[in-house]
Amino acid sequence: MPDQITSAGPLPKDAIATEIDLGRPIGISPHFSVHATGKRQVLLLSEERSFRLGGRLYVALLPYLDGKRTGQDVVKAFDGRVPAERMRSVLQDMLKKNYICYLDAAAPAARQAMWVELGLPPADAERDLAGHAVAVVPVSRNPVVIQSTKALRLALTQAGVQVAARKDADLLVVVVEDYLRRDLATMNRRMRKAGRTWMLFKAGGSMPLLGPLFRPHGAPCWACLSNHMMENRPGDTVVRAEAAVIRPARAYTPASLSFAATFAALELARALADEKSSTLESHVLSFDLPRRAYGQHMVRLTPNCPVCGAKERPKETLERAKKPLVLQAHPVLGQVDGGWRTLPADEVVYCKAKGKEQSDYEVGGSEFEKRCARR
Ligand SMILES: [Zn+2]
Repeated sequence: MPDQITSAGPLPKDAIATEIDLGRPIGISPHFSVHATGKRQVLLLSEERSFRLGGRLYVALLPYLDGKRTGQDVVKAFDGRVPAERMRSVLQDMLKKNYICYLDAAAPAARQAMWVELGLPPADAERDLAGHAVAVVPVSRNPVVIQSTKALRLALTQAGVQVAARKDADLLVVVVEDYLRRDLATMNRRMRKAGRTWMLFKAGGSMPLLGPLFRPHGAPCWACLSNHMMENRPGDTVVRAEAAVIRPARAYTPASLSFAATFAALELARALADEKSSTLESHVLSFDLPRRAYGQHMVRLTPNCPVCGAKERPKETLERAKKPLVLQAHPVLGQVDGGWRTLPADEVVYCKAKGKEQSDYEVGGSEFEKRCARR
């Protein structure tokens, strides 16, 4: 693991402040261990990186950068010793280099350190996390579902997520013993009608699963997901229609459920603290216990999904197919992948799933770019 002492560091996303806001609490980024070595040198050591700050001012600043004081407080503390503009410039530079960051004075330092390690600005992550409440509801009285529900509620609380009653929550996590319970089709439609955002969680079995996020007016929906999962479970189709659950999770221990719940709680907290780019918006997260492998699986939209897709219009599709192929010039991407792509692979998949034409995805304000911007 490289651990060379350097004088500049990588900037996590959103860390580059255009202008420092001295009205907010700031402090040394909480993932650093801080060591003053002599009167002129400060070492900032994280698990993987090391930074050296040379100068008496850095040593003098340390007691004030505890996350309890605003930038203005820090500047005032040096009134008469260091010009305010000089102090502002130093703090601005430290902020840009991620040596210091905005902090939530009331939140645990260790959790804020975790946000930094995950690439999130801690104060913003705490604000976003506090803005949500999650309800965890069991889909059945199956013992694995009940135990998983309790484990997830506990783990969410420990992760800093507000757990609320169903009526007070803006996200509903439905705990299941099988992602393809047949009554989830009804629930899918009911949730959309009620305008609820929800997701599934399965703690039992050899592969715990979480997500994706089902939005009431968005896609994919549970029908899209089940459509693709059924491709790997053809045997389900021959089971009698009255069976509500065909493959409930049968393998579990209290420890495996607790592990899965903790994994899910951390991912949920991360998603709630990072509304701009949550992987859970379009992926199922998994933990493959036999292979000890974490995975994320993009959920393909189902074209003409009867629940969330556009209505199928066979005549229009046929007419479109009759049109002759027209070749057009497009700039190729600047990446070298052995081909001549004009669009990234995932954009093509998204484009096809939505039934869009390539012209809808031209460079500059394309739907794909907007989609990325929404993440
Ligand atoms: Zn759908």
